[in-house]
Amino acid sequence: MESQKQYTPTFSFEFYPPKTPEAIGKLQTTQAELAKLNPDFFSVTFGAGGSTRDMTFETVVDIHNKTGIIAAPHISCIGSESNDIKAILDKYIESGITRIVALRGDLPSGSVGYGHFRYANELIEFIRKETGDHFHIEVAAYPEFHPQAPNPRADIENFKKKIDAGANGAITQYFYNPFAYYRFIDSCEKIGLDIPIVAGIMPIVSCTQLQRFSEACGAEIPRWILKRLQEFGDDRVSIREFGVDVTTELCEQLLTNGAPGLHFYTMNQSVASTAIWKNLGIDQRVND
Ligand code: FAD
Repeated sequence: MESQKQYTPTFSFEFYPPKTPEAIGKLQTTQAELAKLNPDFFSVTFGAGGSTRDMTFETVVDIHNKTGIIAAPHISCIGSESNDIKAILDKYIESGITRIVALRGDLPSGSVGYGHFRYANELIEFIRKETGDHFHIEVAAYPEFHPQAPNPRADIENFKKKIDAGANGAITQYFYNPFAYYRFIDSCEKIGLDIPIVAGIMPIVSCTQLQRFSEACGAEIPRWILKRLQEFGDDRVSIREFGVDVTTELCEQLLTNGAPGLHFYTMNQSVASTAIWKNLGIDQRVND
C-alpha cells in the first residue's frame, strides 16, 4: 500500500441516469444535497444499450451547470463503433467536460455485435489518440477480480494495459473485505503501476438489492454481513444503521492504510452516503 500514500485522497459520488420525471426530480434533490459536501467530482454511469446514453449526457451537463462541481461521465465502448464514441467525446468537449470514467461495459442480452472495441484498453487508446490529454481518464479495477477473468494474474496484467494506454487513475468495484483491496494494490505495486486506485464504496441500504448487484458484478458479501441483513427483514432503518456502521469502519480502515480516496455508489440516494461522509469527518470540506 506504500505507493498509494503519495496521493491526496479524493472523495466522489456516483449516480445512474434517471429514467422517469419522478426519478429526475429525486436526483436533482440528491445532487443538491451531496453538492453541499463539496466532493471532488460526481460521476454518472452509462447504459450499455442506447436508451440511457442521452440521459447520461443530460445528467452530466446538468450537474456541471448547476453545482459547479466536476461532473465525469462514464463511457462504455462494447457494442459501439469508433465514430459513435468520437461523437460522444466531441459533445463532452464542447460542454466543458474534462474528466471521464472509461469502461468496456457488458453487452445487453440479445445484442449481436461487439462493435469496434473488445476491451477497455482499446477505448483508452482511442480517447488518447483522438483527444490527447484533454480528459482525465479513470478506469475500473477489481480487487476481487473481474468475473470473466481467467485468473487473478491475467486480470491484473489486463488492468495494466489500461494504465499503459493512458489512464490517470482507477476506481474499484465495491468490496467489504479490505484485505482484498490491500492485496490487489500490492500486486499492482509489484508490476510497477503508479496511479491512484480509489476504493469504490457501496453503502448498504437494502439486502435484496445488494445481493442482486453482488451476484451480477462478482463482489462478495461476507457471510456475517449477509446473515445480519437477513435478520433485519423489512426493517429498513436497522439495515441502514448497520450498513452505515459497517461501511464507516471499512472506510476508516482504508483511509488509515493509505487508500487515495473513496468513490461512493450512491444509487441516487443521499442519506447513507452523507452519514458515512460525516462519520469520517470529510464534511470539514463543507461549503456553507
Ligand atoms: P476491461 O478492463 O476491458 O476488462 C473486462 C474483462 O476482460 C476482464 O476479465 C479482463 O481481465 C479482460 N481483459 C481486459 N483487457 C483485455 C485484453 N486486452 N485482452 C484479453 N482480456 C482482457 N458498466 C456499464 O455498463 N456502465 C457504467 O457506467 C459502468 N461503470 C462502472 C464503474 C466502475 C468504477 C466499475 C468498477 C464498473 C463499472 N461498470 C459499468 C461495469 C463494467 O462495465 C463491467 O464490469 C465490465 O464487465 C468490464 O468493464 P471494464 O472496463 O472493467 O473491462
